[in-house]
Amino acid sequence: MKALDELISAFRRFPGVGPKQAERFALYVVRASGPEIDRLAEILHNVKETIGYCRECWDYTEKGLCSICSDSARDHSVLCVVERPQDVAAIEKSKTFNGVYHVLHGSISPLAGINSSQIKFKELAERVKNSGGGFKEIILALNPDSEGEATAIYITNALKPYGVKLTRLACGVPLGGDIDYMDEVTLGCALRGRTLV
Ligand SMILES: [Zn+2]
Repeated sequence: MKALDELISAFRRFPGVGPKQAERFALYVVRASGPEIDRLAEILHNVKETIGYCRECWDYTEKGLCSICSDSARDHSVLCVVERPQDVAAIEKSKTFNGVYHVLHGSISPLAGINSSQIKFKELAERVKNSGGGFKEIILALNPDSEGEATAIYITNALKPYGVKLTRLACGVPLGGDIDYMDEVTLGCALRGRTLV
């Protein structure tokens, strides 16, 4: 059945969804009522229409400026650079950071052919440049894997001319782990124990 196969392959594109799970999702859609599927389609459209990038940190937001960037109680001179929006959520949950963020939306991977132009690095460099020395610290909270490492080295070299203090996460970061899978305590410890690059 062509329509069903198309739906299965659409679900297969979702991260972490295997063939069996994609089939289960697709069969659920086939069984579901018309109004339920209409509502789902409406929600999907709505998300695409209302959610965009924060013009400052590139996290997802419904407004031009996200709630963190527009919060004057936060320290706007400390910048935490992360790979993905879910890393912001994980660090926020640890309640150990009161600065602002920059979301790269990926990491540099020479193996996969992903370079700095495919992530929000130019936006980061511009932000640092436009701040005119306004950042007293930039924390590189990148995943402790080879891509995170390559990204950290690239950013460190590229931002050196601006003379800004760069730090990285230290203790408690499991090798090969993902920031958003770390528990709050581990992540909090890693943030407190960050070291100078
Ligand atoms: Zn923001």
